[in-house]
Amino acid sequence: MPEEKRFDVAIIGAGPGGYVAAIRAAQLGLSVVLFEERETLGGTCLNIGCIPSKALLESSERFVSTRDGSAPHGIVVGSVGLDLEAMMARKDGVVKQLTGGVGALMKGNGVTVVEGRAELSAGGAVRTAGGVYEAGAVVLAIGSVEQELPFLPFDHRRIVSSTDALSFESVPERLVVVGAGAIGLELGSVWSRLGSAVTVIEIMDSILPGMDRKSAKVLEKELKRQGIEFMLSSKVTGAESGENETVLTVEGGDGKAVKVSGDRVLVAVGRRPNIGPDIEAAGIVVENGRIRIDERFRTSVDGVYAIGDVVRGPMLAHKAEEEGAAVAEIIAGNGGHVNYGTIPSVVYTWPEMASAGYTEEGLVSAGIPYRHGEFPFRVNARALALGSSAGSVKILAHERSDEILGAHIVGPWASDLIAEIVSVMEFKGSAEDVARTVHAHPTLSEAVKEAALAVDGRPIHSLSRKVKT
Ligand code: FAD
Repeated sequence: MPEEKRFDVAIIGAGPGGYVAAIRAAQLGLSVVLFEERETLGGTCLNIGCIPSKALLESSERFVSTRDGSAPHGIVVGSVGLDLEAMMARKDGVVKQLTGGVGALMKGNGVTVVEGRAELSAGGAVRTAGGVYEAGAVVLAIGSVEQELPFLPFDHRRIVSSTDALSFESVPERLVVVGAGAIGLELGSVWSRLGSAVTVIEIMDSILPGMDRKSAKVLEKELKRQGIEFMLSSKVTGAESGENETVLTVEGGDGKAVKVSGDRVLVAVGRRPNIGPDIEAAGIVVENGRIRIDERFRTSVDGVYAIGDVVRGPMLAHKAEEEGAAVAEIIAGNGGHVNYGTIPSVVYTWPEMASAGYTEEGLVSAGIPYRHGEFPFRVNARALALGSSAGSVKILAHERSDEILGAHIVGPWASDLIAEIVSVMEFKGSAEDVARTVHAHPTLSEAVKEAALAVDGRPIHSLSRKVKT
């Protein structure tokens, strides 16, 4: 076997899990080969996920705020037009810059990148069109793909996936989104802002199932105000596609069926781990559709590890990244650890919604006694100056120890505000710790401090004295 095909670590998949594992392993002095079948590095997140969606969210938000939000600032704008092609080109440019950046990082860290599909073979070696690679450890970071519904298969024209919805060449007149999770709401927001009549259909009785219910209700109200229609407790049971539209049959909670039509139907019902036949053939045990791993990311085959969307836990880029760094440490013989209790979840609509730790529903069902403090953005000076004052910060702390157990924010830049609370949770800090920390004025982060003060019933800029739920 030629020397260059033997490495300490072989990583299949260059998404946030795989490329971070590659960098950390290289930093630790290991020789690393990274396989990727896509033409560019960065995986789902950089190519067809987090990054293009956020670029379009930013552009579409600017479109709406320039058109509808300028007058209150005394800014007079003429008619505001849309150049969708330029918007898409900018999005593609952001993606290109970031995927190229990952390439540069690989080069700079001395990681060997091999383009093309790689498969695991029975002995734990990696097979590619260019030959067989051997490694002391193999990391499967093969990610996930869009989930189809059996009666709504993607035709990529009328019935589309999230990838298709990142590149429509024109604004759909009527867009139906099946699934009110983060991806459905974000892409629904993009096209609603650009002029589509958007209807979101969700089988559960709340948007963002599993996230804090009250916060989800606030977000739902805001999105409705922006023009998005919701059909909750509603199940799509059939579809008929014609030349110009697709008509869905939707069963409501009352058992009655109605027809909902759109010129595009975005199916955003989740993602499926990307497990090819080679994985099980190599003896890797798959459980509930995901590769089974232990607490050290070890699969059922010696020397083969798995991380990211293909294993248990939330399908999030930062979760995959943390696992990537941790698995590299473990392979290098160090301790590697991910605190799954503090992984934040963010929905990048406007307002944004961000959560970490327990929801109130979770605390109640776990029988954990807690206090809650909440502070609305409508009395936060910076939010008022920004003109974005919907929502609140809610902090949940243990009734006796005051340790922060969860936080839920709906509001401007919730995505960034949650980081402070996550840091405190990481140190097992208390609401009092946040309450006693100086926060600059006037900032949105003061709402975090006030929510922490409210846990103890002493917010300064609100008359609410509520301490217990
Ligand atoms: P992936 O990013 O899926 O990467 C796996 C890579 O492996 C792929 O590039 C694939 O081509 C490659 N691969 C697979 N099999 C092989 C093989 N046999 N040989 C060679 N290469 C192979 N997450 C967030 O945290 N924040 C967000 O804002 C966010 N927004 C999203 C928006 C959308 C529209 C979508 C679809 C997803 C979003 N996500 C977001 C989820 C995020 O993209 C994933 O959680 C993340 O990419 C998972 O990383 P990963 O490394 O596990 O897998």
